[in-house]
Amino acid sequence: MNFQPTKLLYLEDTYCFEGEGKFLGWGEDQKGKFLVFDQTIFYPQGGGQPSDTGTIKFSNFEIPVHFVGFNKGIVQHYYKESFLVSSDLIGQAVGFQIDSHRRLQNAKTHTAGHLLGSIVEEITGLIPAKGYHFQDGPHVQFEGQLDEANEVNTLLAQVNTYLLTCIKERTQVETQYVEPLALSELRLPQNFQLPQDKPSRISKVEGFSPVPCGGTHIRNLSEYAEIKAHKISGRKDPKISYKVF
Ligand SMILES: [Zn+2]
Repeated sequence: MNFQPTKLLYLEDTYCFEGEGKFLGWGEDQKGKFLVFDQTIFYPQGGGQPSDTGTIKFSNFEIPVHFVGFNKGIVQHYYKESFLVSSDLIGQAVGFQIDSHRRLQNAKTHTAGHLLGSIVEEITGLIPAKGYHFQDGPHVQFEGQLDEANEVNTLLAQVNTYLLTCIKERTQVETQYVEPLALSELRLPQNFQLPQDKPSRISKVEGFSPVPCGGTHIRNLSEYAEIKAHKISGRKDPKISYKVF
């Protein structure tokens, strides 16, 4: 079945945990069966950030969603095959509810990755290339060679002091839509490809350069007790692991 592109409501508000949509139909691929709506508050896995989970409320029953994916503009909400969905439900209004704790935890881990990337870039000149913002070992992968002058423990201490300063200063995080051309003018890692099927959007931690991003971000760094960089792996294209509290 061909679906219209899903309106991505999660881009508007990270803190929106409930919403409504219209059921358009279902499909199936190698990950299982999925539901499609005209719009969604569910974040689909991508950009190093895990998907939301939650519940879809039809008029007479609810379906739990355990994974959400993105495919050519369509957000696919995966559900257990034991739930029977029939075509008479198409067009029905549904309610969305996402796991708010998971959403906020993911947004915090993801936003911390941006901040860590910007701080390390400012101190060392390395370019943040890729983030892994899952809860089982978040890290940022950098491009470049770590200078001889940068002793690992000293650098970690320097980065952690800077992180703590930003948290104490209650630094703001902003996201906004921009023209696609504006994205191409940003300093980006090698081989970085701007997504063609998502709106052009940047995330900016106040005081640092903006980065193109379609993820969910927190509003203010005061939401952290601490962000701690705890490990640097390798000196060429190093990987820096961190924890969020
Ligand atoms: Zn982001």
